[in-house]
Amino acid sequence: MDRYAALVDALRTEIPGFRIVRKDRSPLHRAIHRALIVVTFGQMRSYLDSYQTTIGKTVYVTADWDDWSSDRRYVTLRHEAVHLRQFRRLTLPVMAFLYLLVPLPMGLAYFRARFEMEAYAETIRAAAEVWGRSYPTATEYRKYVIDQFLGPSYGWMWPFRRSLERWYDGVLARLEPER
Ligand SMILES: [Zn+2]
Repeated sequence: MDRYAALVDALRTEIPGFRIVRKDRSPLHRAIHRALIVVTFGQMRSYLDSYQTTIGKTVYVTADWDDWSSDRRYVTLRHEAVHLRQFRRLTLPVMAFLYLLVPLPMGLAYFRARFEMEAYAETIRAAAEVWGRSYPTATEYRKYVIDQFLGPSYGWMWPFRRSLERWYDGVLARLEPER
């Protein structure tokens, strides 16, 4: 069994009710997509096509998900699994409130940034496991992840580049030694 299939199996046991659903087939996500275009002044148009999204026990995936390599799906699902656990720990209403609104919905979204730091740390660890340490260590990849926090993708959730760089490098420093 490959890593991805094994992780799906493990999550089914860990999170009863866990499921994976196509985002473009969900009326809720089509509505979120339209709302995001409005609130980000047209800068976030790729919500349906580029981002996997977890709500409660469901991971909503892009239409091309099944065409992705199993390793790529595995790395992304490791990130989403962190969100599944956050929802379980905090419950859906508390998680949604903190994630979307506290202290601000955009520009300074402290809790969203904390939740995503926890999840992207897992992305970094999973990428190192699958593709080797050089993958998340690469300048381009580090910039890509940090830009998720600084840019419109998540509503400019955290503006402090230096603190994000320190966080990222701290995650790299704590990676397991390569086998
Ligand atoms: Zn995330």
